[in-house]
Amino acid sequence: MFKLLSRVAPVLILLSCVQAVAAPPRPTLIVAISVDQFSGDLFNEYRATFSGGLERLSEGVVFTRGYQSHAATETCPGHATLLTGARPARNGIIANHWLDQGLARDDKLVYCVEDEQAGGSSSRKYQVSTRHLRVPTLGMRMKAATPATRVVSVAGKDRAAVLLGGAGADETWWWAGTGFVSYPKAPMPAAVSAVNTAIGQQLGAAQAPLPLPAFCTARDYAVTLRGGQQVGTGRFARAAGDAKSYRVSPALDAASLQLATALLDAMALGQGPHTDLLTIGLSATDLIGHAYGTEGSEMCVQLAALDAALAAFFAHLDGRGIDYLVMLSADHGGHDAPERSAENAIVDAARVDPALLPAALSDTIAARLKLPTPVLLGDGANGDVYLARTLDAAQARAVSAAALSTWRQHPQVAAVFTREQLLALPSPGGPPDQWNLEQEARASFDAERSGDFVVLLKPRVTPIAAAAPGYIATHGSPWDYDRRVPILFWRNHLAGFEQPNAVETVDIAPTLAAQIGLKIPAAEIDGRCLDLTRGEGDACASP
Ligand SMILES: [Zn+2]
Repeated sequence: MFKLLSRVAPVLILLSCVQAVAAPPRPTLIVAISVDQFSGDLFNEYRATFSGGLERLSEGVVFTRGYQSHAATETCPGHATLLTGARPARNGIIANHWLDQGLARDDKLVYCVEDEQAGGSSSRKYQVSTRHLRVPTLGMRMKAATPATRVVSVAGKDRAAVLLGGAGADETWWWAGTGFVSYPKAPMPAAVSAVNTAIGQQLGAAQAPLPLPAFCTARDYAVTLRGGQQVGTGRFARAAGDAKSYRVSPALDAASLQLATALLDAMALGQGPHTDLLTIGLSATDLIGHAYGTEGSEMCVQLAALDAALAAFFAHLDGRGIDYLVMLSADHGGHDAPERSAENAIVDAARVDPALLPAALSDTIAARLKLPTPVLLGDGANGDVYLARTLDAAQARAVSAAALSTWRQHPQVAAVFTREQLLALPSPGGPPDQWNLEQEARASFDAERSGDFVVLLKPRVTPIAAAAPGYIATHGSPWDYDRRVPILFWRNHLAGFEQPNAVETVDIAPTLAAQIGLKIPAAEIDGRCLDLTRGEGDACASP
């Protein structure tokens, strides 16, 4: 034994010297967190108030101007960029829903993580699948390089869990109704059943209003929306068993982190010789932003709760002695309810003219041209609009001309691009905050899935014509408030720095890959590695 040691020891010393000079040891766990709708604006507004997990991340490597660089700033495309390094034009996830007029069913909309080939699937009641994602995720690449790698994905929404983890993740769990579920036939580990049982008990109890942190007082005032609904002073009180309110509250993020913690412990993630990946989609910020807007007591209470929940989660990882690298970003930004914006100095904030909704526009044009409806199809006033396949060539030309003329004359429309125009453009380059609208639209355009037209509304036009309970404000535009998100990296002993110049969320995957020595061919992605080493030294250099 001694003999063997004496022969091995010099080699070990040599190896550790080489390692010390060339690169620090690799983290044994990457934790990649997406906070749905956590805009650059929210991060900046609340940064000084953070005292928990978000404060810790704010002291790491901070990119305040990360860009979901594409025009279609929705949840599916945004989550698909975060860990693939690929923009929607390459990764195939160009919207939350797109149209497939060749589908045999009446419902021609396809949901981004739906298996529309599965029997009985519809865009609303679907079988979840990864089939539409055209590129591998970081987790799939890690597993291909090191099969012992474990990839676990947990989220408040199915699309977040599926698009962050990718095909072949060991565990993929998302919130559905009253607990976490997975793909059909996926066995439920004991850790998941235990968390679901605990959540069932939480759900069964009433919730008193959450306390209002002192810094939230200034945001706590009522705003009346067009239609009469009031928001701005909510604190997430709910009756026993009210699962709907539980979901649109800080409790959803706490539940997601509870499940992530349970799976981490049960699978001993980050405690082996290789690097594991834990991806977490925290959806409450988005659901609260849609239900109450971004500038009231509701968002303030939510961000304080998120900050505290992340602190507890990181403390758990610290307690396990795991050397983990955290990345936190968002799938898109967000925009407040136009009524509150209008009251607070932004007088041009407005709701979209219902005449611009594809169904309404289709009816108007069909009546004028004496054609059967529909002549146009789409999922909203903003984004992809399709010509009905039932039109012959001459009819399609007439409908196109009428639609283009309506859009171009409408005071709420910033630009409309045709399919031919966008396909003729190269993939955009250069700083993403300097792109024009055409380049942004190109970055989320796919020849097979995108519309015949991409319609972009003017800034501050909310594409919700009438506010409804749970849906008063949104995102999805090509404007900075929806494209700009923070990108934060933290690891124990990683020297922090701040970089305010614009970078892209597609840069995250190659940046994380470089931290664990994983090679991603540059031609396969749109992003680039960001050097996380402060000062001299290059974390992106090949070892
Ligand atoms: Zn989202």
